[in-house]
Amino acid sequence: SEVLLEVKNLKKYFQVGKAQTLKAVDNVSFQIYKGETLGLVGESGCGKSTLGRTIMRLYHPTDGEVFYEGKKISGSVSKEENHECCRKMQMIFQDPYMSLDPRMKVVDIVAEGLNSRNSSMSRGEREMQVVRLMEMVGLQKEHIGRFAHEFSGGQRQRIGIARALAIHPEFIVADEPISALDVSIQAQVVNLLRQLQDELGLTYLFIAHDISMVKYISSRIGVMYLGSLVELAPSGAVFDRPLHPYTQALLSAIPLPDPRAEKNRSRIVLEGTVPSPVNIPEGCKFCSRCRYATDECKKSTPQFRQVEEGHWVACHRYANQ
Ligand code: SF4
Ligand code: MG
Repeated sequence: SEVLLEVKNLKKYFQVGKAQTLKAVDNVSFQIYKGETLGLVGESGCGKSTLGRTIMRLYHPTDGEVFYEGKKISGSVSKEENHECCRKMQMIFQDPYMSLDPRMKVVDIVAEGLNSRNSSMSRGEREMQVVRLMEMVGLQKEHIGRFAHEFSGGQRQRIGIARALAIHPEFIVADEPISALDVSIQAQVVNLLRQLQDELGLTYLFIAHDISMVKYISSRIGVMYLGSLVELAPSGAVFDRPLHPYTQALLSAIPLPDPRAEKNRSRIVLEGTVPSPVNIPEGCKFCSRCRYATDECKKSTPQFRQVEEGHWVACHRYANQ
C-alpha cells in the first residue's frame, strides 16, 4: 500500500519547571497508509494527543520529522506548503462541547472551513454547501439555523465532523472523538466515520484510550506507553497475538460479553506504579509494571523492531527473532 504519512524519530519534549523535561513523545516512528485507519491507544497521559497534535503541526517537534506524501511538513515550511497541508489535514477533537462555540449558529460553524477555502462563494452557495455537508453527517437541513448548544453530544460531534469535511481533507486525526459520548451514541459516530471513509477515501489516525473502542474501525493498531510506541500491527494480530506485555494487559482488561467466560478468565493485573513522565528511568519504560522484567530490561531500552511481517514491538523478549 501507498504511504500517506510518515513519522520519523519524532520527539516532543516539554520543559517542566526549571530542570525537568517531560518526554511526551519520545522517538516515535511509523507510517500511515492511504485509506487506512490507524488506531492509536494507551492510557491518558501517554502522549497520544501530543503525537496527534505534533503531526497536525499544532506543536513544533523537539526533534524528528513528519512527511506527507513524501514531503516534509514538520518544522518550517513555505507559506504555500503550509496552506496545502492545512487543506489536506484536519482534526476532530475529543470534546464537541469544548471545540464548538455554543453561541455560533451551525451554518457559521460548518461554513468556517468553506470560507477559508473559497472566499468568493455567495451566501446562497455557502448555505447549499453547508446543507450538503450536514446531510453527509446525518443532520437535517432544518438544523442549520440553530446554535451549537441546542444539540446533543452526538450531534455536536457530527457538526465537528461536517466542519472538518468542509475543506475536503484527505487525512483526519480524530482525537478521542467518541470518548465523551454515551455508549449508545459511540457506535453511531464510528459507523459514520467508516461510511465517510468509504465514500471520500479518507485516511484516519484514530486516537482512543480504550483499545476496544478502536477495534471495529482500525486496520492497524498502535499502542503507546509513556511517550513511546511499544507495539504496532494489523488489528487482528494485536487482538489474537499481542506481543508486548503492556498490550497483553490492556486486552486482558476488556470485559468479555459471555459472563461464564468472564468468570473463568484470568486477568493480568498490572503491578507496580507508572513512573512519572518527567522522571523516566533508564531501560524499558514498562519495567516497573512488567512481570517478565529482567536485569537487561532495567539497563537497556528495547528497540522498536519488526518481528514478523507488519508486526512491530519494543521488547527484549523478542530481540532474537
Ligand atoms: Fe517487559 Fe522487559 Fe519487554 Fe520491557 S523489555 S516489556 S520490561 S520484558
Ligand atoms: Mg488526550
